[in-house]
Amino acid sequence: MPDRLSPLELMTKLVSFPTVSSSTNLPLVGWVEEYLSGHGITSHRYADPDEPKAALFAHVGPLEEGAVVLSGHTDVVPVEGQDWSTDPFKVVEKNGRYYGRGTCDMKGFDALAIWALVEAQYAGVTRPLQLALSFDEEIGCVGAPPMIRAMQPVLPKGSAVIVGEPSEMQVVTGHKGSIGFEIHARGFEVHSSMPDKGVSAIMSAAKVIDWTNTVNDTNRAAEPTDLAAVFDPPYTTAHVGVVRGGTAHNITAKDCFFLLDIRIVPGESAGMWGDRVRDRLREVEAGMKAVVPQTGFDIIHEHTVPPLVPEEAKEAETLARMITGDNGTHVVSYGTEAGQFQEAGYSAAICGPGNIAQAHQPDEYISRAQFEAGHAFMKSLLRRLQT
Ligand SMILES: [Zn+2]
Repeated sequence: MPDRLSPLELMTKLVSFPTVSSSTNLPLVGWVEEYLSGHGITSHRYADPDEPKAALFAHVGPLEEGAVVLSGHTDVVPVEGQDWSTDPFKVVEKNGRYYGRGTCDMKGFDALAIWALVEAQYAGVTRPLQLALSFDEEIGCVGAPPMIRAMQPVLPKGSAVIVGEPSEMQVVTGHKGSIGFEIHARGFEVHSSMPDKGVSAIMSAAKVIDWTNTVNDTNRAAEPTDLAAVFDPPYTTAHVGVVRGGTAHNITAKDCFFLLDIRIVPGESAGMWGDRVRDRLREVEAGMKAVVPQTGFDIIHEHTVPPLVPEEAKEAETLARMITGDNGTHVVSYGTEAGQFQEAGYSAAICGPGNIAQAHQPDEYISRAQFEAGHAFMKSLLRRLQT
């Protein structure tokens, strides 16, 4: 049986695995699996079919529905090009802070969740506790949905999911969702002196890109809904962050690639905005095809993160509020896996240690005070699970 590690020892171990989203997380998952199994806890994997990555989930306590689910992602953002003053994959304690990639986002919480699961195993609980560790969160929250699908037939369904993204232990009950597209405009090359015979991929793409300005102007001018009013800005926004295309000033461009993202307020769906994007593409495409039939748009890649909608039943929110004493209204501007759990029928809220301002930064850290607040949260949660 391995030693029971402290939250700090667990975080130190997790940070030592360089689980940048572009690399494997299997060594980390394997270590957690072995650590849990050493304490008599069976864990399950969801293995990604294409890449050497996996999610891990586990259950402790009576085999019945209604668990509290502690959920975090195992991947971290890259450190390349960032000026770190310490080794990013080593936890270094300095001035009341723990430095290291992922300490804040979000291996600090993962460590606390693993700690809580093992404590629950030894102390015994009357309400079950589950752990869910995902992958590929940082590249568009793509790892959680298959993990959630894989969990459902294997574990009794949990009823309150706490996603421990850094919120300084505030209870966050809403965030915007997003839908993102990588789009390829396929034009037809002719000399630019005869533009009527060609189709410029760039100029066609521009019609779609300019549509995002119209979307923003219209949404800005509209009265915000109650669900949207707490966000800044209080409406759905569209944005094009990358455009690439063309070969010469006197050739109608054959190709143009662009990235279009929409950040969606709760109350509106990613599906509806996806349809609007496709409608606009088809509309512009009709004009392109009228000139040269084989031109048009291809959606190369699409990803969706559903919004987190403040809930009516509020089981996760109520639990997190009881433990933290936080009764304020908080929403965040970043997407998380909480919206994906909610979409799968779980009650979900965000509550985790650390400040999002330190996430993704060089010299990322979590303050000792925040880490201890996270530890206190877990202890209080365990007491509640025992009564
Ligand atoms: Zn995160």
